[in-house]
Amino acid sequence: MSKRENESTAKELKEKLFMQKKNAYIRMSDSEIKKCDKFCEGYKKFLDEAKTEREAAAVIEREAKSAGFVKFDKKKKYKAGDKVYLVNREKAVILAVIGSEPVDRGVNLLAAHIDSPRLDMKQNPLIEKEEVGYFKSHYYGGIKKYQWTTVPMSLHGVIVKADGTKITVKIGEDENDPVFCVSDLLPHLASAQMKRPATEIIKGEELNIIVGTRPFKDDEISESVKLNLLSILNKKYGITEADFLSAELEAVPAFKARDIGFDRSLVGAYGQDDRVCAYTELMAILEAKNPKKTAVAILTDKEETGSDGNTGLQSSYLKYFIADLAAVFGVKTRDVLANSKCLSADVNAAYDPTFSDVFEKNNSCVLNGGVCVTKYTGSRGKSGTSDASAEFVGEIRAVLDKNNVIWQTGELGKVDIGGGGTVAKYIANLDVDTIDVGVPVISMHAPYEITAKTDIYAAYKAFEAFIDS
Ligand code: MN
Ligand code: MN
Repeated sequence: MSKRENESTAKELKEKLFMQKKNAYIRMSDSEIKKCDKFCEGYKKFLDEAKTEREAAAVIEREAKSAGFVKFDKKKKYKAGDKVYLVNREKAVILAVIGSEPVDRGVNLLAAHIDSPRLDMKQNPLIEKEEVGYFKSHYYGGIKKYQWTTVPMSLHGVIVKADGTKITVKIGEDENDPVFCVSDLLPHLASAQMKRPATEIIKGEELNIIVGTRPFKDDEISESVKLNLLSILNKKYGITEADFLSAELEAVPAFKARDIGFDRSLVGAYGQDDRVCAYTELMAILEAKNPKKTAVAILTDKEETGSDGNTGLQSSYLKYFIADLAAVFGVKTRDVLANSKCLSADVNAAYDPTFSDVFEKNNSCVLNGGVCVTKYTGSRGKSGTSDASAEFVGEIRAVLDKNNVIWQTGELGKVDIGGGGTVAKYIANLDVDTIDVGVPVISMHAPYEITAKTDIYAAYKAFEAFIDS
């Protein structure tokens, strides 16, 4: 064999034996890129419109209705092709498209979460300190607290008055609205602050949101800035200070979703964990046509605080929906669950070349590598993980490959560095084959998170393929 022949054999062998790791952009045709970019325009609109779990649930319900979904009624009979939905306490949604196969052969579940890290207002939030009015906050989810200062914030949520009337609040999204902000110390005076550990550069009780500075025009009384603010709120919403006690107000970054980069390859926005999987999952189920298996899309709340509570996936609301579905068809809940499959649709940490030392390159997902399939999550010895079986990974792999979905694998950072979990284990605990599949994210849990458009589109394609499998 000549040297040249040997070289070409090595090249062929390499192509045959090595894993394909080409950039998704190279692997996609021009027309696919066009479709991908267009898809992401819809995604950005969704991000701007649905910044909290309540807003996301409302948008999802609206889109479901216009796609022909009707409220699930456990007393009704359903047939293949019927589309139903259920809203749990305005914060979580389940959508289902009835398949042609009996439900006790299992359903195909997709589960994403629609809550994101943010600053929640305390129940007694309004204070005045030296003629500056603040809302006291309690952060929600795992954040680097210092990232949330000097960022324009909008305020979203509801206030329930003692008579039961509910007021919806959304200030700071319209260009003419005011915004709110947490202050930070100027560097000139921060030498002591800069010596604090990073977890305390900004302490929880320093996440005070500036809400006003003009006093009520009467010098005689104390706390006149607070009085003036309450007077403004009373005129606008008809509320008094006590009404905050029964309110849920959330401060989130006020900026809109934008393209990032000269090539517009990335999306920058607040709350992409996990609304990037929520949107792609939603689009996949809204467009589902006559699936064999019943398709169920869950868009849940409270993932970022551990999935506890009645709108989180540690509660029984999913199990009860499956039980009601089983009852409609006169089959056993446990048979439906045992034969079901689930893609836990949540983001993973994309390899960040600037901070490469926390990643193990060979087992990290990368931007533009496609949707990421994660066999197991957890931390330090797979603690708290749902570890999908090799058989189930094989099944999902076949579905993705058969449908030309661009995908990669990746785990969350180096073994001893940290880790994290998703809702996968709570669904797997119901006796469902479950695996994590989601979009790689840079700067996860920061006020501004980054994803790649090709990966977003690949996630949508993966969920579509799963529904049709
Ligand atoms: Mn997540
Ligand atoms: Mn998260």
